Amino acid sequence: MQEWIYLVIGIAVVGVLAIAGFVTTRVRRPGRLPEKASTDVITPAPSTTVEAPTAPPTVEVETPEAPAEPAAPTLETPEKPASRLVRLRQRLAGSNALGRGLLGLLSRDQLDEDTWEAIEDLLIGADIGVAPTQELVENLRTRLRVEGGQAADARAVLREELINLVDPTMDRALKVSGEGDAPGVVLVVGVNGTGKTTTVGKIARILVADERTTLLAAADTFRAAAADQLSTWGERVGVEVVRGPEGGDPASVAFDAVKEGIDRGVDTVVVDTAGRLQNKQGLMDELGKVKRVIEKQTPVTEVLLVLDATTGQNGLIQAKVFSEVVDVTGIALTKLDGSAKGGIVVAVQRQLGVPVKLVGLGEGPDDLAPFDPAAFVDALLS
Ligand code: GDP
Repeated sequence: MQEWIYLVIGIAVVGVLAIAGFVTTRVRRPGRLPEKASTDVITPAPSTTVEAPTAPPTVEVETPEAPAEPAAPTLETPEKPASRLVRLRQRLAGSNALGRGLLGLLSRDQLDEDTWEAIEDLLIGADIGVAPTQELVENLRTRLRVEGGQAADARAVLREELINLVDPTMDRALKVSGEGDAPGVVLVVGVNGTGKTTTVGKIARILVADERTTLLAAADTFRAAAADQLSTWGERVGVEVVRGPEGGDPASVAFDAVKEGIDRGVDTVVVDTAGRLQNKQGLMDELGKVKRVIEKQTPVTEVLLVLDATTGQNGLIQAKVFSEVVDVTGIALTKLDGSAKGGIVVAVQRQLGVPVKLVGLGEGPDDLAPFDPAAFVDALLS
């Protein structure tokens, strides 16, 4: 019996010692965390390790379970607007068939009626429009007769006349600044599919490149993907997007975004809108309301109409409808890279009496450039 008692006591003692040992290990463990954490801090500094005089031991760099600090999102640095049109010149390759054609015809020995007709056909075919074509041909005829028609001169005269036609006197600056401390508000309108949301994203990049604080409003609440699309553009350059519920009231999203912009003191708020062109009255009501609610807080500084250059006459009809609904102050002409009809620049300016301010020359994030008449004409004639 006594032996049994000793055995039980023995087992109890061993048990107590085992538990004590386990507890000690558990208590010690947290003590190791700082060591591990410090390894974490060292690991994610790749750029400084390059310059460090002594390289860190490979073991630390390769520590598999060093999740590092949450990686800071890498923001892209958009290209400055000034250099863009020069970079994108070759994208107007389709349109410079017009320039080559014109130069070819003008360098003929005899500028007879047939040649002038061929020149007219080329210009009209490039969507310049009938009245501007006649004006240009008239001016070219007069000048070449008066100044003599050497090929070299013909090129210079054509360049000058084309630049005049595009009108270098128009103010093409995007109005992105508000009065005093108020943000500038850019309202972007246009038919769906023209590249409106993409253009809003690209404008955000231009503003960031110009070091302007920016907020985007996803007021196209009808197209499910539009807000997500805009958020992706925003994330890449660190610009926030104000969104509303899908199918919600676009005006309320625009209102909230501008309010937020004022409260935060940002430089510019860019508002994407829906472009359903089912009927003019509906469009007028919708865009009218968006503009009105914004202007309860601060004026809209720019109403930018996005037009797809490849749609020709259709684009001009859209331009007319939108300009009747809302006071358009500038045009962004997209997809000029896919169009041989650069002449639409002239036609649309004439029709609306407002300048083309931006041109879209590709799907890349920085493929939107401020429009410059001389650079544009040089690209046509290159
Ligand atoms: P939205 O419906 O008007 O908002 O149109 P999106 O912004 O969704 O654009 C429609 C399509 O046009 C997309 O595939 C864009 O990548 C494309 N796009 C927009 N701008 C340009 C441009 O300047 N050049 C080319 N080639 N494609 C463009």
